Amino acid sequence: MHEKLFTPGPTEVRAELLKELSTAQIHHRTEEFSSIYDDIQLNLKKLLYTNNPVFLFSSSSTGAMEAAVTNGVKNRCLNFVNGAFSNRWHQITKKNGVSCDKVEIPWDQAVKPELVEEKLNTGKYDAITVVLNETSTGLMNPIKEIGEVVKKFDDVLFLVDAVSGMAGTEIRVDDWGIDMCLAGVQKAFALPAGLTVASVSDDLLKRAEEVESNSYYFNLPLLHKYHLRSQTRTTPAIPQIFALQKQLDDIVNKEGIENRFARHREMAEFVQNWALEYFDIYAEEGYWSNTVTCIENNRGIDVNGLINTLVEKYNIRIANGYGDLKNKAFRIGHMGDLSLADIKGLLATIESILDL
Ligand code: PLP
Repeated sequence: MHEKLFTPGPTEVRAELLKELSTAQIHHRTEEFSSIYDDIQLNLKKLLYTNNPVFLFSSSSTGAMEAAVTNGVKNRCLNFVNGAFSNRWHQITKKNGVSCDKVEIPWDQAVKPELVEEKLNTGKYDAITVVLNETSTGLMNPIKEIGEVVKKFDDVLFLVDAVSGMAGTEIRVDDWGIDMCLAGVQKAFALPAGLTVASVSDDLLKRAEEVESNSYYFNLPLLHKYHLRSQTRTTPAIPQIFALQKQLDDIVNKEGIENRFARHREMAEFVQNWALEYFDIYAEEGYWSNTVTCIENNRGIDVNGLINTLVEKYNIRIANGYGDLKNKAFRIGHMGDLSLADIKGLLATIESILDL
């Protein structure tokens, strides 16, 4: 028996998908590989409602976050920070020597479109970064509405970290004007860690040609050349690609994209109603995430004690609060291939441990 993960990534992976990882290897410069690549493209484009290519990075999401800012910023980038991962994107931007500023917003509050408009009206920026779903706080930013604002500014690229949202909540890349939408597959895709997908717009590719990033590995125009041949530029994580192909087929053709999002909403609502009954929810109302809930520990429970009991007695893992929120909150991941029954079982177990 393994430990069942209700953490906000990595998430529980079905045995069927784990089996895909041990498929006999194929060579990546073959027609067989290219046809798998094309199949993956087709389904990722459906999932993201986009005509843009979706690059595959054999790295965790952080690699694609670097690629976004090192290829997509010519003048100056503005990082909107309302959680640990959006703050990390600012650190990544700075560390790569890309000119940038950050706007800090209290972690329990969303990035509001009016603020984005006010900042872009300064004319100082040609790219912005926003995290769709702050895994640290369980807050989902209004990406669609922010996209409406960004569209008013011709030269501004919209870079979105959708790491813990993609495949668990609707993202309409083309309608919302997202230039890069990236996510590691260890979250709502419910796959093992090690692969990241990122949609890349024509405007971003054009910008990347002008910027001429110094990165050899995360160089979008070079990656694009291979994409056009239905290949990856370097040796890809082939086992992961088998698993991604199978999971995308299951998502798009078996479960159905809309059904998957509806199941996530149902699980989220159940957890959030439960949280309101016994505790409180950290993020401001109206922006609660479809994939992770950060529950405020207003009862002063021993969060570590709860996590340890869940692990030791029940083989279940949830997550503590992130960073400063440690012990002040705990997080439940309700994403991937979990069911409402799994969620009900988890919450009943927590109730019995805490004697609620
Ligand atoms: N962005 C978000 C929203 C995340 O949740 C995470 C990881 O939890 C990351 C970025 C970093 O991803 P990775 O560890 O795959 O590099």
